[in-house]
Amino acid sequence: KKRDPHEKEFHQAVKEIFDSLVPVFVKHPRYMESGVLEQIVEPERIITFRVPWVDDQGKVKVNRGYRVQFNSAIGPYKGGIRFHPSVNASIIKFLGFEQIFKNSLTGQPIGGGKGGSDFDPKGKSNGEIMRFTQSFMTELCKHIDPDTDVPAGDIGVGAREIGYMFGQYKRIMGSYRAGVLTGKGLSYGGSLARTEATGYGTVYFVQEMLKDKGLSFEGKTVVVSGTGNVSIYAMEKATQFGAKVIACSDSNGFVYDRNGINLQTVKKLKEVENKRIAEYVNEHPHAEYYEGCTGIWTIPCDIALPCATQNEIDVNSAKLLVANGVIAIGEGANMPSTLEAIDVFLNNRILFGPAKAANAGGVAVSSLEMAQNSMRLSWTFEEVDAKLQQIMRNIYQNSVKASNEYGHPDNLVVGANIAGFLRVADAMIEQGIV
Ligand code: NDP
Repeated sequence: KKRDPHEKEFHQAVKEIFDSLVPVFVKHPRYMESGVLEQIVEPERIITFRVPWVDDQGKVKVNRGYRVQFNSAIGPYKGGIRFHPSVNASIIKFLGFEQIFKNSLTGQPIGGGKGGSDFDPKGKSNGEIMRFTQSFMTELCKHIDPDTDVPAGDIGVGAREIGYMFGQYKRIMGSYRAGVLTGKGLSYGGSLARTEATGYGTVYFVQEMLKDKGLSFEGKTVVVSGTGNVSIYAMEKATQFGAKVIACSDSNGFVYDRNGINLQTVKKLKEVENKRIAEYVNEHPHAEYYEGCTGIWTIPCDIALPCATQNEIDVNSAKLLVANGVIAIGEGANMPSTLEAIDVFLNNRILFGPAKAANAGGVAVSSLEMAQNSMRLSWTFEEVDAKLQQIMRNIYQNSVKASNEYGHPDNLVVGANIAGFLRVADAMIEQGIV
């Protein structure tokens, strides 16, 4: 906090993890004494750079680019790129820090990193997006390669942006290194089921939590925030599992459809036409649209899947969800619940799947994409989906095991943090101070 007093999101992420590691330090003081903690909060490297580009009117614009290479104890840095006006060092560091533990939890050989820019893709033409993205990669390419750092997408960075980044990387570096980015298109090295992986994975994780209590998605009402990559595929899998998704949102407002959200309409509006979710009601006039994002948590539901952005569920929204009878929360987004909101869920014994565990399916399949690229072959959708399900099951079981072993049964925040931490900490200690 002394070094970076203004980085409140980063401090929030560190506090959540360190608080839950206390039982580890009590049982095994060597993790305190080894200097691992002092090292793990300091990124191995932070790269900040100028991203100049020219808009459609011929005006020069400048944004700031970031890549935080946080921890490479168990593999090359791995984590997405976010384009959103709210991006700053604190946001990228919190995301990079969380990524270390999430990636460890997947059991795959991937370290933690994150990147992005304060560029706002909203309202930009395709040409502007391409020029910006190429400029971003012109600097980033000096710092990444398939064995060093492998970025992917995140908010504002989907298949189109990954494609432009890959093209620019190839052009500058003069060689075809398929494994330098993940989330690629299927025609040039992408993995089947990567698009679906985070949303599906979140639902697979919640399914495991429910199953342990003799419950399932069948017949449950579900509220999912966002209508981006994670949300859309969380809605799809929850519906396939027999649930009824009754609400979803974007950064302007939310739609409540008591008959069940029509996913085809959402996909058309958001994936094809790039429109606002407000337009949903034009095709489904019985549905209701409300301005503002947080109001979505006032809708009574059995299962809530926050899949939009950080801190979208505050303490009041959490209390309301509990009062309205929610039984399970699955965090598809990164850090969508504030620390106070998490306390409300845990104190009320709501089944709570924390982001690090519940949304790890995306990066897990990214790691499978890297494996396929290295082997120069591709697995079928069914093969990747089966591996994803197995990985989510393992993450759930390892988190439960750690939560029991360290005296916090049913607390998956503690369980996931401890399970993720131990693998990285052991690797750091074995590799010495470097
Ligand atoms: P997208 O850009 O595809 O979608 C984001 C969605 O959230 C959009 O509906 C967007 O609305 C909404 N949103 C964005 N910012 C805000 C905000 N400040 N307030 C309210 N709504 C907002 O991103 P993803 O689906 O990829 O990512 C969503 C979350 O999941 C992020 O936290 C990300 O870090 C996390 N995540 C993503 C993974 C992936 O594989 N993509 C992997 C693991 C985690 P609008 O359309 O109006 O912008």
